[in-house]
Amino acid sequence: MAWAEKLATGWRGRYRDQHGVKHKVTQPDGSLFERKKDAIEAAEEEAVKARRTAAVKQGALPASIKWGHWWDTIVVDRTFDESDTATAEKYIVKNWLRPKWGDTPLNKIPHDDVQEWVDDKQRGLGVRPGMSPRYARRIYAVFSVSMSIAVKKKVLDASPCVGIKLPKIPKKPKPYVETSHAAQLDLREDYQDAVEFGLETGLRPGELCGLHIHRCDLEKGWMDVVETFVHRRRVIRPIPKDQDARGVPLTSKAIEIVRRRMGDRDRSAGCGLQHTDGEACSSALVFLTARGRVMHPDALGQAMRRAAERAEMPRANANMYALRRGFGTRAARGGMDVFMLAGIMGHADIRETQGYVQMSPQVRAQAMAALGERPPLAAVGHDEDRGADPWGKRGADLNGDALESTGEDAAKDAV
Ligand SMILES: [Zn+2]
Repeated sequence: MAWAEKLATGWRGRYRDQHGVKHKVTQPDGSLFERKKDAIEAAEEEAVKARRTAAVKQGALPASIKWGHWWDTIVVDRTFDESDTATAEKYIVKNWLRPKWGDTPLNKIPHDDVQEWVDDKQRGLGVRPGMSPRYARRIYAVFSVSMSIAVKKKVLDASPCVGIKLPKIPKKPKPYVETSHAAQLDLREDYQDAVEFGLETGLRPGELCGLHIHRCDLEKGWMDVVETFVHRRRVIRPIPKDQDARGVPLTSKAIEIVRRRMGDRDRSAGCGLQHTDGEACSSALVFLTARGRVMHPDALGQAMRRAAERAEMPRANANMYALRRGFGTRAARGGMDVFMLAGIMGHADIRETQGYVQMSPQVRAQAMAALGERPPLAAVGHDEDRGADPWGKRGADLNGDALESTGEDAAKDAV
């Protein structure tokens, strides 16, 4: 039951819930309605929502509830740590789920329809220009959650999402920076040093910008990676006490860069940024801009992109993470043990490190050598049975796809 009451500045909607408790209804921003009719309509809508919510709690909601109404009843209980996630979900529901499923009763959504929607390259989630498989999966995940909750709350007996085949996320090599590329970038000296140091050490952007000089032992050639510059909050965050700092060896080039960046600056001056653990800081940052300010990862990335444009190099390669991958790729190619590389890069799991080991002819040659094959000939094309496609099938095999035993392999084993 809904009605409206006249107040000095407009109309307010009222309704009584199933327990007889009266509720007030205003516009979302708290203001009153100009017209009585709108106030009553809004109150009626709220009354219906309240009845549904109560029905969900009692497990008395019919399976014929429309998906859009179902979402309205469960969305109030969805909470996220990050407000970005909530915003993204709202967007997905408004643009993808409501238009497709909003008016469909839950029990009229069979498995096959869901699969068809996922596969549809025109209007569904099928991979097509403008939709990445990752995003398609993200959209699907919100839908799938809504169905799982329906089963949990006993509105549905089973979820139509069980066994749905999702678009595959292709493994593609990520861009990385070669040392020779970095040398071609025409950067300001402070940025050039930062870029080359990144390639020598594989530090994350925040770790590089937050590197304190007392963490560098230039005599022994090691540094401890302990602090990170959190640029959005402009603070230094040390690693949690229960975690170990990782040691990263410094190449002679890296040592030279640190010496040059420090010049004759006061090493115990303190970085001037707040440390989130509250400790006072008495150590200078290694990387500062030419004007003596804290170096910002975004500004560094931007400088890299502009320099790449000037040098007519692909922009995709010009970012801080491409430097890190460049380091990982170079180290792996040079034969560094993957466990050592994971330790240096600060990966908890060597599966993360795998992404930095890029397919390249050198890696393939190493793998072939380790497997006891004779080294590939320098000139491609002279060796008919395997030189014709140095990047082909075998490259993909090394990237973690299943190895197939082909006639060709068997023939080679016999040699
Ligand atoms: Zn500091």
